Amino acid sequence: MSDIARVLDQLGGIGRRAQVLDRGVSRPDIDHALARGAVIRVRQGVYATPAVDPAVLSAARHGGEVACGAALRAHGVWVLSDEHPARSGANDRDHRPMPRLHVWMGPSGRQHAHAGCRCRAHHEIGDRPAGFGIVEVLLALVQYAVCGTPEGFFAALESALQLGLIPQGGLATLRSRVSEHLRWLVDFASDQADSGLESLLRLRLHLRGITLQSQVEIAGVARVDFLLAGRIILEADGRENHERSSKRHKDLLRDAAAAAQGYETLRFDYVMILFRWDLVLAAIEGRLAVLQSRQVQDDAARLQDR
Ligand SMILES: [Zn+2]
Ligand SMILES: [Zn+2]
Repeated sequence: MSDIARVLDQLGGIGRRAQVLDRGVSRPDIDHALARGAVIRVRQGVYATPAVDPAVLSAARHGGEVACGAALRAHGVWVLSDEHPARSGANDRDHRPMPRLHVWMGPSGRQHAHAGCRCRAHHEIGDRPAGFGIVEVLLALVQYAVCGTPEGFFAALESALQLGLIPQGGLATLRSRVSEHLRWLVDFASDQADSGLESLLRLRLHLRGITLQSQVEIAGVARVDFLLAGRIILEADGRENHERSSKRHKDLLRDAAAAAQGYETLRFDYVMILFRWDLVLAAIEGRLAVLQSRQVQDDAARLQDR
């Protein structure tokens, strides 16, 4: 590996000419490495190794770092799909696709002129100057709070919490940096959700006045995603499930074990929660209504027995 490639690797695969020269690489070394294709010129005075992440490269061409939803995804955070933003209650005209590339330029960073690209520049203040690469989870959440939907932001936040990616004091910082109408979501977020679907389910039911117990251990059944009214088990099945048939068999066993103890199980998948929420809600409210009417009958019977 040439000197410049090694130096660029230490810089995360991409760096400015001055940084490279500072680390002892000579001008002829740079020219030689460029000619051989060992490094590429990102733009005037910025070089990268050919192995650098294409999104990082593209953001650097814009003059900044990968930001917002793409940065969250790069950190492994669950992010709602851009192509199908789940805007509950909104009509189809609001389903505008998000611009593809979101770039953090720093507060005063200048975007390099270009045409024919659907990108969005972010100018938030960071803990450090903007460079190249991918912004940290906390800053990406601040950005996604603006570009995503409130529930998309909430699901990403709960995923980051569950993954342990929010540093000490990070929630307070986040709360102070998002707009006022999102602050309650920061307070409401927990580190219990195993998937973004669980986050969406809990949030949407909360908005309907339905409170769930999350991640409940039921003897003989194992841990369930949610328990409702002490009797109804809700499970959100992610689309990332592998080994479908063995998973299905396990689910059926669990459901039978739960039924044997008087529980009933409702399962919803990604497509249902995102695109058939009306049906999901009707199913939950329908079962709840049955449970409540049974409760009323039981109470009446008990009064008559006295
Ligand atoms: Zn953005
Ligand atoms: Zn662009």
